[in-house]
Amino acid sequence: MTALLKLDDISVSIGNLGLLDRISLSVGRGQVVGLVGESGSGKSLTAMAAIGLLPLIGGRVTKGTVRFDGQDMAAMTETQRRKLRGARIGFVTQNPMTALDPVQRIGEQVDVVSRLHLGLSRADARARTLDLLTRLRIPEAGAVVDAWPHQLSGGMKQRIVIAMALAGDPDLIIADEPTTALDVTVQAQIIQILGSLVRERGVALLLITHDMGVVAQVCDRVAVLYAGRLAEEGPVGPIFAAPAHPYTAALIGCIPQDGMAKGSLTGIPGAVPSAAAFPAGCRFHPRCPRASDLCRNTPPMIVHRTAGQVACHHPGEAE
Ligand code: SF4
Repeated sequence: MTALLKLDDISVSIGNLGLLDRISLSVGRGQVVGLVGESGSGKSLTAMAAIGLLPLIGGRVTKGTVRFDGQDMAAMTETQRRKLRGARIGFVTQNPMTALDPVQRIGEQVDVVSRLHLGLSRADARARTLDLLTRLRIPEAGAVVDAWPHQLSGGMKQRIVIAMALAGDPDLIIADEPTTALDVTVQAQIIQILGSLVRERGVALLLITHDMGVVAQVCDRVAVLYAGRLAEEGPVGPIFAAPAHPYTAALIGCIPQDGMAKGSLTGIPGAVPSAAAFPAGCRFHPRCPRASDLCRNTPPMIVHRTAGQVACHHPGEAE
């Protein structure tokens, strides 16, 4: 599959602080790629680097390249990058209220995207909005277009934000924890709808999440980040069947299973270190059950495998 978005060995710093170290991943059209890790692992920063937003937080790519549809983002002017983000990239944020205007009716907010980016007339934009809302399984879409945001539930509001992200016919959607604020049943519905809509339309989706359950549900590939480095990346099926990296295995172990006793989910002991205090060697070693002296002293190299990559001195070993 040809990559629409390709990060090739990128490192990112803010001032003298190195935050991301040699990350490579790609997203193709019609493909859903999960970017996973706990808070502080570098997921959002990776997404910002991918679409040229690092200057907003004083960051910069210090190594490697980011290509969108074959074009080197670093070679573009800021005006070109802004235009690209506006016309070809859609965003779905965690909190729909940050994306919705509380004093504008729902229909107008979705219409404006296709009028602006596709040059549609008012009538055509409204028809497109109604079609999108129906595909997002919003009941009574004809009435919802006249509603105000505060009249909708959290799940409905998030569907509207997804409709807005799709309305301009983007090539790429970046969804940052799009269902974290919703209850579990609604989460599952929205993730499924989002996944099927992007595949149907050939849109590339980079899905940022801390939840491997969401990845299992909808993603084709997954990139697991830990403390600013790639731990493991590859197709979802093989990684879930046999995770090579202990951190990937631990994240998969955090997915609640049917019939599990309440309180039996333990999580991963310890916390992601801050960038100012990354440990020597493998950054996961203080939390890793497989850690050896080699791990404590020498950072693991990224090893490319048949369908993915892993950075671990003892990949896939039993604990
Ligand atoms: S390199 Fe060592 S410490 Fe790091 S994840 Fe692999 S086994 Fe654990």
